[in-house]
Amino acid sequence: MPKVYDIIIVGAGPAGLTAAIYTVRGGRKVLVVGGIAPGGQLMLTTDVEDYPGFVQPVQGPELVRMMRDQGKRLGTEFLDEKVERVNFKKQPFELETTSKQKFFAKAVIIAVGSDYKWLNLPSEFVSSIEQVFTKLRHIPESIFSWINFSFKFIKLE
Ligand SMILES: Cc1cc2nc3c(=O)[nH]c(=O)nc-3n(C[C@H](O)[C@H](O)[C@H](O)COP(=O)(O)OP(=O)(O)OC[C@H]3O[C@@H](n4cnc5c(N)ncnc54)[C@H](O)[C@@H]3O)c2cc1C
Repeated sequence: MPKVYDIIIVGAGPAGLTAAIYTVRGGRKVLVVGGIAPGGQLMLTTDVEDYPGFVQPVQGPELVRMMRDQGKRLGTEFLDEKVERVNFKKQPFELETTSKQKFFAKAVIIAVGSDYKWLNLPSEFVSSIEQVFTKLRHIPESIFSWINFSFKFIKLE
């Protein structure tokens, strides 16, 4: 008998992680499937200065790590794979991930954020490489997310 979650959240950026914290605190069994860029766009930035509660700037990846740890502490399960197929025509809803695993849920929250429209200019390539090196200098633990992100940006994926 397959495991059925109350809620599966697709996307592990701030929206998905916030949804996880709220729903798991509401007593639901929650799985977050975070895609190839768990943490989302905040992984791409350094100082976040506009998040309430932080008197001093917090680094984007650090803020995301705290959100994820908070979700984990409350009982959220995480899977860093991409959802590739969904079937919303039957109950429970069915989701298939990159490794062809199937997951079932009574409800699904889609929080996949947005993507950029690139002009394919050489300066975009240079900019993404610069971002990688800046981030690697400051935040070595997020090497793999960065490499994934940057490859996506320069469309080598
Ligand atoms: C350089 C930069 C600096 C920024 N600075 C600030 C700032 O200082 N303050 C501020 O408030 N905001 C800032 N932002 C904006 C902020 O990062 C976004 O508003 C926020 O990340 C949006 O959150 P989200 O969860 O909606 O989407 P995202 O952060 O885009 O997350 C989307 C998630 O969905 C996942 N996903 C996508 N497709 C799938 C799939 N098929 N299966 C599974 N998962 C999937 C991705 O892997 C990712 O985890 C900045 C953004 C950038 C790029």
